[in-house]
Amino acid sequence: MNNKKIALVTGGSQGIGLATVELFAKNGYGVVIADIKQEQAENVAKRLKSDGYDAFAVGCDVSKEEDVKSMMECIMKVFGRLDVAVNNAGIHQTPHINIIDMPVEQYRSLTDINLMGIWSCMKHEIPLMLKSNDCAIVNVSSVGGVVGTAGESVYTATKHGILGLTKATALEYAKEGVRINAVCPGAIYTPMGDTLLSSAPGLEEALQNMIPAGRLGQAEEIAEAIYWLASPQASYVVGHSLIVDGGMTV
Ligand code: NAP
Repeated sequence: MNNKKIALVTGGSQGIGLATVELFAKNGYGVVIADIKQEQAENVAKRLKSDGYDAFAVGCDVSKEEDVKSMMECIMKVFGRLDVAVNNAGIHQTPHINIIDMPVEQYRSLTDINLMGIWSCMKHEIPLMLKSNDCAIVNVSSVGGVVGTAGESVYTATKHGILGLTKATALEYAKEGVRINAVCPGAIYTPMGDTLLSSAPGLEEALQNMIPAGRLGQAEEIAEAIYWLASPQASYVVGHSLIVDGGMTV
């Protein structure tokens, strides 16, 4: 078995996932960049490898359990271990839409990707982690996991659901060397964040005025929180939801 620790990041080819991949790579982890956009993930892996890091890309739609299963088989074949998993892939409810106007297909894709995706990833990550000791999972929720936003009902439900999954699963494996926590980002500049901002004129300024820190966040600021939650420095943190939002929900 390779001695290098391995970190998997879903939705790792851009935004918060990409910042997280880069931070783990710079800290000596072998990184697995998983994304529905396989080519973009492969380009990230190529760039990291040319900079001397250990990186591997895999195409995976987290809403398909078969994809998730074969991704784990692939990780075991290539690296023989999994130490950290950042379950970050998700989609937003943009543009905002009230519940009475939402087609069932949109409800299904939000829940399949944001909630079932996390379930499916944890279901197949944990058995690999039980073979090692001292592993960690960080699930990416949102401030939408702790407060509601009009026009984001189903996104809000999935992000609340992630915290429930995190807490209960954390209890199931706390004694078995797998620590499970969640991070709840506020409004962050990423491709997803930018799409939301451009869908609603004036939103960026309104957020800047409303957020106590006076600005939106950067993907790297969320990556730092994820990295800490997954690190031995957070060894006594279990089932926690870490809000990183510039004070937005305070
Ligand atoms: P992003 O820029 O859209 O990046 C997410 C990546 O995940 C994209 O490459 C996306 O591909 C991919 N993805 C989508 N569905 C997938 C699937 N079924 N399987 C695998 N990969 C998939 O998003 P982000 O802003 O970095 O957000 C990352 C996470 O943080 C999400 O869970 C989001 O809900 C959460 N979050 C973000 C913010 C924010 O302000 N940005 C705030 C709170 C929480 P596509 O581009 O094809 O969708």
